[in-house]
Amino acid sequence: MTLQRPAVLTDDFMRDLVARVPSTSGGTWKLTEVYTGEHLVDLPQSTPADIERAFATAREAQRAWAATPLRRRLAVFKRAHEIFVANALTTADLIQAESGKNRRMAVEESCDPPMVMSHYLKRAPRLLAPKRHGGPVPVVSHSTEIRQPKGVVGIIAPWNFPFATGISDAIPALMAGNAVVLKPDNKTALSPLHGIAMLEQAGLPKGLFQVVCGEGPDVGPTLIDNASYVMFTGSTATGRTIGERAGRNLIGACLELGGKNPQVVLDDVDADEWVASTLFGVFGNTGQICMHIERIYLPDSRYDELKQKFVRATAALDVRASYDFGPEVGSLVSVDQMHRVLSHVEDAVAKGARVLTGGRPRPDLGPAFFDPTVLEGVTTDMLCGVTETFGPVVALHRYRSVDEAVALANDTDYGLNASVWGGDLERAQAVAARIESGNVNVNDALATAYASKSTPSGGVKQSGVGARHGDQGLLKYTDVQNLAVLKKQVLGPRPGQDYDAYVKQMLSGLRMMRRTRLR
Ligand code: NAD
Repeated sequence: MTLQRPAVLTDDFMRDLVARVPSTSGGTWKLTEVYTGEHLVDLPQSTPADIERAFATAREAQRAWAATPLRRRLAVFKRAHEIFVANALTTADLIQAESGKNRRMAVEESCDPPMVMSHYLKRAPRLLAPKRHGGPVPVVSHSTEIRQPKGVVGIIAPWNFPFATGISDAIPALMAGNAVVLKPDNKTALSPLHGIAMLEQAGLPKGLFQVVCGEGPDVGPTLIDNASYVMFTGSTATGRTIGERAGRNLIGACLELGGKNPQVVLDDVDADEWVASTLFGVFGNTGQICMHIERIYLPDSRYDELKQKFVRATAALDVRASYDFGPEVGSLVSVDQMHRVLSHVEDAVAKGARVLTGGRPRPDLGPAFFDPTVLEGVTTDMLCGVTETFGPVVALHRYRSVDEAVALANDTDYGLNASVWGGDLERAQAVAARIESGNVNVNDALATAYASKSTPSGGVKQSGVGARHGDQGLLKYTDVQNLAVLKKQVLGPRPGQDYDAYVKQMLSGLRMMRRTRLR
């Protein structure tokens, strides 16, 4: 197979990108092009001492950055927005090479940081402005809520959206006056490194945004022990390890974890719209979107019709390696991930599930390709019945009543994303409200919730703690200083006043405060 790699991905370009990763040991990791398995660049690996030095440099740069007026900090992101948009296609080339995803998904990912910048450029001035409140005694006291940066935020990012999780999650942290030390996945370090170079081109001070690389268990402990806050995106198992360590260190952590996301299709659904959107919701990013759909519940009355349409459309998907917009589905991220997906399908088939289409690796297309797969007859004793497959595999289920569908959708330890489809929007929204999930999309699979940057987005149950986006997505990177001022010392009895009289006065004051608008 001959594949034309984009001309911009020269050896020099990639060597320049990885040059900012500190490594005194000289150890490297072979970063490869997923479509072909060919070597792209040697990625330096950071030792604990390298990580500590990265934090020291970031801490130093953070002091000056926090003292920079917010207006000037935000000006960097106004310029960065332009630069990111102008370079979106180069970013997409890097994302495709290191992750194997198709072009549409890579371009959409390259747009995520500009969307986040745009949102917080408008919102940050209000969120970060000191807010004055009344104090305990009206008129003579007040308190001001002051938002201070936490210091140096450690970000640990996965491979499935390396640019979005590595850069977008750093933007509100930086705007709030923090420094960042990022640990990307080794497989997908190039696009976030490119993002940092673009931020510096826009004027972000050198040293403020550091990158350290290595295997998670090697880098994680030193990173968490030096961080003022941890932003983690990845699997539930790793999230638990990160959360434990952050808890021991008494620092905050936002944990964005896995899912086993359900979709409930109501009997008044528009079949064609549902099929088109759900193909993306299931197979977008080759099924490696944390919010993608792995379980579909179809009404008994329309099961055969909907199944037939969905299976036919799945079988017709164009799956290939290419840096152009042709293929609708790309590769899985690695041969390991392909084996994980295969093991889920084999386990399901061995226990009685039926493959309606797909179900096999495609070595003819590249080392980590897997056919888009639809299963039927999946039960909770199968791996893919309860745990996240994280690949292009979905199970169809039949339900007889909406109550049964809701109960089945909620029968999971996860609660990241869900989708409800129906012609009657009010009815569909009422069903959506009954699903235990941090995100629920009505008449869409996932993109509407994810792209709604004004609303916090996170998981419930085993899918996470905290959220990105919305006010919370920026405020989590700040500590609150409660600056309280008493203009005259009136707390306590006046000179000569006995305690009984003082208590009486205080209690009547409490009643008065309840009745007046003064606080
Ligand atoms: P992972 O947990 O294996 O790895 C995520 C990151 O953590 C990587 O950078 C990895 O090197 C690092 N890591 C691994 N072990 C570590 C340790 N002990 N200490 C510190 N860091 C460690 O997850 P993955 O396989 O890279 O990503 C896929 C998972 O991420 C899926 O479960 C997916 O659902 C989830 N995800 C969730 C969201 C979300 O927003 N909820 C978004 C994207 C991906």
